[in-house]
Amino acid sequence: MNRQIRDVLGDVFGFKEFIGLQEAVIDRTVLGDDSLVLMPTGGGKSLCYQIPALLRNGVGVVISPLIALMRDQVAGLRQAGVRAAYLNSTLSYPEVLEVESAVRAGRVDLLYVAPERLLGERTLGLLAQSRLALFAIDEAHCVSEWGHDFRPDYLQLAEALARFPGVPRLALTATADEPTRREILRRLDLGGAVVFASGFDRPNIRYMVAPKNRPRQQFLRFLAAHRGQSGIVYCLARRSTEETAEWLQSVGVDALPYHAGLDSRVRQQNQDRFQREDGIVMAATVAFGMGIDKPDVRFVAHLDMPKSIEAYYQETGRAGRDGEPAEAWMVFGLQDHARQQRMIGMSDAGLERKQLESRKLSALLGFCELATCRRRALLAYFGDRLDEPCGNCDNCLAPPATWDATRPSQMALACVQRTGQRFGSNYLSDVLRGVGNDRIRSFAHDQIPTFGVGAEFGAGQWRSVIRQLVAQDLLRVDLDGYGSLRLTDAGRAVLRGEQTVRLREETRPERGPAPAGSRKLIPAAPGVRGGSLWEALRALRLELARDQGIPPFAIFHDSTLEEIVVRRPTNLAEFATLRGVGKVKLGRYGEKFLAVLESAGGEPTRDPPEAWRPGQPDPDPRAAEG
Ligand code: ADP
Ligand code: ZN
Repeated sequence: MNRQIRDVLGDVFGFKEFIGLQEAVIDRTVLGDDSLVLMPTGGGKSLCYQIPALLRNGVGVVISPLIALMRDQVAGLRQAGVRAAYLNSTLSYPEVLEVESAVRAGRVDLLYVAPERLLGERTLGLLAQSRLALFAIDEAHCVSEWGHDFRPDYLQLAEALARFPGVPRLALTATADEPTRREILRRLDLGGAVVFASGFDRPNIRYMVAPKNRPRQQFLRFLAAHRGQSGIVYCLARRSTEETAEWLQSVGVDALPYHAGLDSRVRQQNQDRFQREDGIVMAATVAFGMGIDKPDVRFVAHLDMPKSIEAYYQETGRAGRDGEPAEAWMVFGLQDHARQQRMIGMSDAGLERKQLESRKLSALLGFCELATCRRRALLAYFGDRLDEPCGNCDNCLAPPATWDATRPSQMALACVQRTGQRFGSNYLSDVLRGVGNDRIRSFAHDQIPTFGVGAEFGAGQWRSVIRQLVAQDLLRVDLDGYGSLRLTDAGRAVLRGEQTVRLREETRPERGPAPAGSRKLIPAAPGVRGGSLWEALRALRLELARDQGIPPFAIFHDSTLEEIVVRRPTNLAEFATLRGVGKVKLGRYGEKFLAVLESAGGEPTRDPPEAWRPGQPDPDPRAAEG
């Protein structure tokens, strides 16, 4: 049995090893057991049902809510020689008939179906007449009424599937908290299922967070290491997605906007281009979310802070689904925090809900201001533990020093108190620095003892001190939405000298005005990509994809191209050993890619440095600067 499973892995998918729990899940499913599979995005859930579907008799039915993606998934499988098809509302009637007769005749191994389609009598009838290998219920958390992706159709699945006793079922999801897990088991009637849960870490994603200070400059510096790569830039407002896209175009980046207010045709067009072309940067609101299944998104950037750690983790999780190095980059400021706070204040939710959202927002600010491993903090937030610092976040790569900042913290806290706990960080910073302006004079705040006590700091440094005080819950942003700051009990304790405060080194005045956001930004994947050979391989892939009307990654993932560059196969036998090259793709494309290598062989190409791997600092961090 095991041997068969491994053969399929190599011959069809071109992989040598299983990742994580894949093999265990596949083993059980081939034997006919039900299971619940919890794996992070990019964890390799698809193989868990694809391989058993190929090994068991009959057709494997995959229930997936992401209609827009079925076409691409099926295209990718067909490229590997798998007999795959889909049924959804985008097919014409003759196409439906064709798929149905192929299923009946046993000529389909994997059938993707939208849930509403499956529930129709027509499809249920078709399945009743066909031999079934298994049911895979993808995005199974859609069954949870409390989750944000709830789909009413999912509630009826259990009833429909009850008509097919003896057909193994797999429920798969990347959302794994305990209540959701229980709800999936209950609602999909999976009482006897084996639960396979792997950790939720995304080790290939590098987390980078910096204070916002001329964000466009900061973003350009970041982008320099990501030229030609696909990425998403999240903005809070619809208008800023359009402005950001325009600005990026003006500096030569292939960028498109996406938000819920765009004409639906334009929106679809932009999403299609993002999915199918190489290297598009999408400037989007959170409306660009579920339904992005592009494996090679190399970065997710936040020009504005999202509203919670949950939202941040979900949004950044769209990077690097292919397991290759990817970056999650964010700039943040107290302004964003105040804006989000205002939105919470203005919403018509009840007070309890508002307080909850406000706490979640503060938790995110705390994450931004961290001086220690970010991955550890993220995982801890979700109840996962990481024993060692990760080595692949900004704080691990360039640990920020901290210093005893009790005295300036007391100044800031005293200033908050003396001005009546009614002002935001800009005003407070002016008072502390002794900037006399009309507003300050009108409140007679140029007469209070804290006026001008902090002249040794710049405005940016004071803002940073205040932000960190908020992050440490010594100050709290008021729910009034104007960004006014109040003291907490812990803040009062600092003011009374009962507690000390440590802040990040960058706020320390002796060091000179270290501009916020000047920490080193390090590129994720240097070297192998970007050379002339790499570009030639990409061009061939794009051409082949265009000819067939499929996305480039359906032909080969970036990781395969990378292996071509590093290993330089000289014949088909060598080409067959590359990751992601199964028998069918070898036959279809081997010669063509070898030809590109041959014609590039004469010219000196850059020496490929060792591919970067998570957990290992880059060979030359300075490469990112300038
Ligand atoms: P998920 O559905 O869990 O988000 P996928 O099934 O799309 O993840 O797999 C993520 C990526 O990992 C894909 O690019 C896939 O080709 C790759 N992958 C999956 N299993 C393996 C494996 N055993 N070896 C190498 N790559 C794999
Ligand atoms: Zn870390």
